[in-house]
Amino acid sequence: MYKKFLFLIILFLFTISFNNKKENTKPNIILILVDDLGYADVGFNGSKDIKTPHIDNIADNGVIFSEGYVSYPVCGPSRAGLITGRYQDTFGFGKNPLFAPKDPNMGLPLSEETIGDMLKISNYRTFAVGKWHLGAHESLRPMKRGFDEFFGFLTGGHRYFPHEWDLEDETKVKSQSAAYRTKLLRNEERIVEKEYLTDALSRESVDFIDRNADNPFFIYLAYNAPHGPLQATEKYLKRYSHIKEKNRRIYAAMVSAVDDGVGNIISKLKEKGIYENTIVYFLSDNGGRLRGDSDNGELRGKKGNLFEGGIRVPFVMQWPKEIKGGQIFDKPVISLDIFATSKALTSPGIKPKNELHGVNLIPFLKGENKKNPHDFLFWRNNLMQKDVNLRYEASAVRTEKFKFIKNKESDALYNLKNEISEKTNLKDQNQEMYDSLKYNYSKWYKKLMDPIFLGLLANKEYNRLNPDRFKN
Ligand code: CA
Repeated sequence: MYKKFLFLIILFLFTISFNNKKENTKPNIILILVDDLGYADVGFNGSKDIKTPHIDNIADNGVIFSEGYVSYPVCGPSRAGLITGRYQDTFGFGKNPLFAPKDPNMGLPLSEETIGDMLKISNYRTFAVGKWHLGAHESLRPMKRGFDEFFGFLTGGHRYFPHEWDLEDETKVKSQSAAYRTKLLRNEERIVEKEYLTDALSRESVDFIDRNADNPFFIYLAYNAPHGPLQATEKYLKRYSHIKEKNRRIYAAMVSAVDDGVGNIISKLKEKGIYENTIVYFLSDNGGRLRGDSDNGELRGKKGNLFEGGIRVPFVMQWPKEIKGGQIFDKPVISLDIFATSKALTSPGIKPKNELHGVNLIPFLKGENKKNPHDFLFWRNNLMQKDVNLRYEASAVRTEKFKFIKNKESDALYNLKNEISEKTNLKDQNQEMYDSLKYNYSKWYKKLMDPIFLGLLANKEYNRLNPDRFKN
């Protein structure tokens, strides 16, 4: 009897340790998203004046996606694509949402599964930090959308200095822009925070790693830097006193604050002994806006349009345990691939709630699959109009070499492998390719929905239709 009991105890302990071991082999995932960072504003893409040593280390120890894209050229829809792994126009998230905390339809539809939802199925601890921008209604907030913890703000941007956060909560917000001044949220509580916003977001991420190093975890760290308003502290500004242009100087300082944060996160991973088996992504939600601040290098265009400067972003990842460092991956990939990759690694046998539009990048990064991850990438830009009855759509398609683009300035075919800056229109020389890409776009287009809510530029119209928007 005693022996049998002892045997069961040993079996029990063995099972626990085996399960723990199995559990610990799942990689942690840290997804760092920055806001409006120009393609050429990181060291790994050639920036001379802005120093990003910690972000560059991710590139050195992992992979640079030199042709890494997002699914939309402005904040909200790009995030909706990233967090669902799906082209956002397939579920109507075609505009930048307004801050409308009473409106359950202003944000990511509940039909959608987030990357947080998916990872929780695999027992990940999940944390959203920073800018949410996927709905301010109580049913759409991070802790209802797959996150165990949240620290940040709900709207499309925020002021950076704590003394400017003078609105107690959303009930005190009386205009779209005033939402930038609310106190921060910790989970569902408004809190008093005393640090410069970027530093606070970094600190909370480091703290979460400290508390969760023994479980697989996922951090969605969405810095609003270097999105406007341009605001930085002396600590970072003094690194750039040699930059004469004021907007560029402040912007550079804001990027430096992010870079320090990335450095602190990496240090904490090393301290906890989980550096090797943690995947870290770093990318921007859209290109630079080019208002004397950002720099998209040779790329044509900027935030808001479908030229490369709007949608091709600084994009790197590392996973030291599995992926060889020092790689430049120059085939087109897209932010939607992060969901599909995470799913393949953590819950390959479970069917996703909705069809995913990205691919698992790991076999490509390991050299096991030499093909292109994507035959085609697609974009539809639901251009913002002040008159909400007017609609204008721009479209673009990318293959490995070619890009079809039709917008207000261009109706063209470009060969991006020959010319990154989209200057030489090859439409007449290669009508067949132009037609083929256009045809594939029209097939993709059939799966899309019109935007399901009014966007940022329809603020006045929305107020007219919703007179109680800011009433308590
Ligand atoms: Ca943005």
